[in-house]
Amino acid sequence: MSFTSERVKSLPPYIFSRFQQKKKELEGKGVDVIDLGIGAPDLPAPDFIVETLYSEAKKPENHRYSSYNGCIEFRKAVASFYKKFYDVDLDPDTEVLALIGSKEGIAHLITAVTNPGDTVLLPDPGYPVYQSAVHLAEAVPAYLPLDPHHGYAPAFEKVPPETLENSRLMLLNYPGNPTAATAKPDTFLKAVTKAEEHSIAVAHDSAYNLVTFDEYQAPSMLQVPGAKEVAIEFGSLSKSFNMTGWRIGYAVGNKEMIKALSIVKSNTDTSQFLPIQKAAARALNSDFSDVRRHNSIYKDRMEKMIQALKEIGIEADKPKATFFIWAPVPEGYTSLEFVDKVLDEAGVIVTPGTAFGPSGEGYFRISLSVPTERLEEAVERIKQLNTGGDR
Ligand SMILES: *Cc1c(COP(=O)(O)O)cnc(C)c1O
Repeated sequence: MSFTSERVKSLPPYIFSRFQQKKKELEGKGVDVIDLGIGAPDLPAPDFIVETLYSEAKKPENHRYSSYNGCIEFRKAVASFYKKFYDVDLDPDTEVLALIGSKEGIAHLITAVTNPGDTVLLPDPGYPVYQSAVHLAEAVPAYLPLDPHHGYAPAFEKVPPETLENSRLMLLNYPGNPTAATAKPDTFLKAVTKAEEHSIAVAHDSAYNLVTFDEYQAPSMLQVPGAKEVAIEFGSLSKSFNMTGWRIGYAVGNKEMIKALSIVKSNTDTSQFLPIQKAAARALNSDFSDVRRHNSIYKDRMEKMIQALKEIGIEADKPKATFFIWAPVPEGYTSLEFVDKVLDEAGVIVTPGTAFGPSGEGYFRISLSVPTERLEEAVERIKQLNTGGDR
């Protein structure tokens, strides 16, 4: 007898659990393991957001159900953020939907847009959650390879024509996890054009839209003229405002997809706790000085780590966004061999590129979201690694 569906049984294994197991073993032996595998901010949410949560939580009217699509203050705040940052107009009633984190929204969108057996194009390398969500919706994942020689832009020419014809939906993610790649000026235009040509819906995951360095500003896919005809964009306060556990994000863009997603959601959940939505609205209406402050912390960590990698002969691109470094493994190692070596010899967990799809072979991902002293300790240990490189 089994009480687990085939759908759940056949989910691809969660690669991160392998490292958690090994981490426990090493810690059992007294090793001080530094985990640079986790992709969640270590910094706290800004005080004014916490204060807003607190004062809103004290109002009994906020203890009721939210409206299904999220409260109007939050939806308006998202629309005005899009106007201010991207000069994109959004109707808060039909083009904005509150989410309980963007992960939930992405998973439900697949059910909302695809029929069982439909093909969904997924970036390779990409965020592993996409593949699981496609699997759970009984759709069929197909890889959309990203081209490392062209800034990890989608290589549509590498997708077989019949796959493109059968695709109902494609997912993209810039600035990207795990590659930290940013969209080139024509990336979104090309994707929207492909989508129109082949009648494919596009979902752009912009979880790292505000985690950017120096003068770089990440564009929105909705800035492409006509994008709203085919595209929906996901955003989240998790990474920008360090609100991962609060579970608040949004979907914006194509009205039909917003509607379909809202129907799935209204039959599944009843939106997020109102004080969280109101605190998030306050965050989106703020001057973003906290976001800039956090970004400069990530940038400082990033530069230290890039330098350490250089010293052991690993040349990684300096990212313009995200808190990830995506780096090539030294010659003579597979991704998995190298991350095992880093864990065994330095007590540092990094993620093998293959956790993010077959094209991740030959790379590993470092997450910079641990306190700076820990990061500096990891940097010192990594400098001692003998990779057979330049030393
Ligand atoms: C962290 C992350 C998310 C999830 O964000 P939530 O809003 O917290 O669900 C989505 N996409 C990518 C690429 C991420 O790294």
